[in-house]
Amino acid sequence: MIYIDGETGEGGGQILRTSLALSMCTGKPFQIANIRAKRKKPGLLRQHLTAVNAAKSLCNANVDGGEISSQTLEFVPSEVIAGEYHFAIGTAGSTTLVLQTILPPLLCSKGVSTIRLEGGTHNPFAPPFHFISEAFFPILNRMGANCSAKLSTWGFYPAGGGRIEVTITPPTEKLSILDLRERGKLIKAEALAAVSKIPREVAEDECNLITNKAAFPVDKCKIENADSPGPGNVAMLGMEFENSRVFFTGFGEIGVSRNKVGHTVISSANKLYRSKAAIDEHMSDQLLIPMALAGGGCFTTLHSTQHTITNIEIIKKFLSVEISCEKLSGEIWEVRISKI
Ligand code: AMP
Repeated sequence: MIYIDGETGEGGGQILRTSLALSMCTGKPFQIANIRAKRKKPGLLRQHLTAVNAAKSLCNANVDGGEISSQTLEFVPSEVIAGEYHFAIGTAGSTTLVLQTILPPLLCSKGVSTIRLEGGTHNPFAPPFHFISEAFFPILNRMGANCSAKLSTWGFYPAGGGRIEVTITPPTEKLSILDLRERGKLIKAEALAAVSKIPREVAEDECNLITNKAAFPVDKCKIENADSPGPGNVAMLGMEFENSRVFFTGFGEIGVSRNKVGHTVISSANKLYRSKAAIDEHMSDQLLIPMALAGGGCFTTLHSTQHTITNIEIIKKFLSVEISCEKLSGEIWEVRISKI
């Protein structure tokens, strides 16, 4: 039995999700205490409970403590079965964070899976749907997987009501090792600003600001009237390099101007562009798991976030890998994963 302290480092939901994912990939049971101890409302919220239940149904696990607000959980997995699954969070809880839990085991399973998820698709503090479809999946697919995602309905916080469908085809053998130290030339940069029940000109202004302030050419700026049950606004910018992808997001909310939303996106994008790092900080913590499952990989990034450092600690509890973070010149860090 592996013991996890949910108060480690970042102390958020990712500790639970990584533990569930790697427990299913390795067949190793675990117990976790102090779940989400460093969050305002500790314990399992709807989104985390959906992740626990999704994990349970993927591998017919024995679960103890899978209740709302629970701060402890025991999880004993069996074999992961690929197939068709449907998970509804029932609130605006993030669909992509539930996906973060079930994707690694389905990549290790035998067969193709189709997952329908309902909840939030563009939530603050979670990967937006487009981060997954435009940046994370293209990188993962270079490791031998074949994953695609379709957005049927946008879901914004707090109304939710979004729907996505994801198809996961695991690699023929196992995930392959990827070297993401050099990003190569910029191939294209595309912005997308979406509004639901909010004036279209908000998205237009965000897109204009992003294009005008960019330190690189923005090839396309798309405005979208998002079909969603509640109001929402998000501005996003994806960049495709020869060897990598990065993705930046800003969320509109009451009290946050469209100017601020656009600036959030473009200041992070400009910083990364000028730095020559290959991947952004969110991609860093999320790529660690597939790279650790592959038994190796490396990337350059801007700095090691608490999410990255904490994820490294949890990964090392389940897998025999060494993960080093070394500061190179300027602000760039190199992260390297290797088998022990
Ligand atoms: P936690 O805070 O522990 O629930 O983990 C949040 C997860 O969402 C981490 O994997 C973050 O990298 C990811 N995340 C948060 N914001 C973004 C964003 N704007 N783009 C991509 N991923 C994000």
